[in-house]
Amino acid sequence: MRAFVRSPWVLHYDASSCNGCDIEVVASLTPLYDVERLGVLNTGNPKHADIFLVTGAVNEQSRAVIKNIYHQLPEPKVVVAIGICAATGGIFRECYNISGGVDSVIPVDVYVPGCAARPEAVIDGVVKALDVLEAKHKEMAGLANCIDRVVYQEADRGDAAELHTLQKVYYQSEVELYGDDSLPALQQTLEELEQDFQRHPAREAAAAAEGAASDSPADESDRVVFMKAVVNGKIIGSVRGYAIGDTTYLWRIMVHPYFRGRGIGRRLLKEIEQVFPKSRRFEAKVGHRSKRNHIQLTELGYRQYKTEPLSPIVTWVYFQKERTPKPQH
Ligand code: SF4
Repeated sequence: MRAFVRSPWVLHYDASSCNGCDIEVVASLTPLYDVERLGVLNTGNPKHADIFLVTGAVNEQSRAVIKNIYHQLPEPKVVVAIGICAATGGIFRECYNISGGVDSVIPVDVYVPGCAARPEAVIDGVVKALDVLEAKHKEMAGLANCIDRVVYQEADRGDAAELHTLQKVYYQSEVELYGDDSLPALQQTLEELEQDFQRHPAREAAAAAEGAASDSPADESDRVVFMKAVVNGKIIGSVRGYAIGDTTYLWRIMVHPYFRGRGIGRRLLKEIEQVFPKSRRFEAKVGHRSKRNHIQLTELGYRQYKTEPLSPIVTWVYFQKERTPKPQH
């Protein structure tokens, strides 16, 4: 891990800078200041980068590009906002097309002050980013080492913020699969996710069928259930489900990319099935390119039975299975 942190690869993106900060970043990377001698390498490929250096404020054109690049950096990653424009929007913040600093679209770990930020400050920011990167690596490695102590339990509304963060991280990899960052899971706000904890889909479906809002009291048994996988107090996986009649509907099967391939998704599905003991049938919907989820569901006895377009890019694939009755002795 030390070797890894000593040779970070950085990727530089100009969001809408006046070029002042970019010149200083380039000066940091080229022979005069030469951070390469410290093991820092500049790359043009986000999939190879550990540190994302952004200059300039975020405007209408750069917003989507910043998100797209950020989503492609592997975990763990560090974002450095260089210069006052990247930090707050700077002198451009009142412009009609500026949404603010870099943290108006993605999380920022390190802010480098200055207008323009001096090369010494840029290098200082990269060194701080290395500390953040190392801390993130340690945290992930620590969690990976105690994977056998994963606890599966129902989440509550207090977990909403952490689930929302996990959702953003997980669906970044889906963005790569589909080349589209308008996936509904990435658009969902924290407030909307919190509201999901209050939803009663069976009641909503009955009201929709009657053509009016139902005023019957909400039945706790028809609420949306969030199942979470937790290790060392950190949520690393989740799935949601609710029952209408004798069918349980499952969606948003997600496992943090760092913990994939360890059976956590399968276990989450098994656990949430147990929450609905009266259901005779289970239905799950996943995107057509989400092959990991297809495999997990198939291994648990689910079979694909229909598809439905979600957007011009994404198609829902529906899987179903009947609950196998326990043998009578
Ligand atoms: S901080 Fe100053 S030098 Fe850097 S992009 Fe903004 S205006 Fe230009």
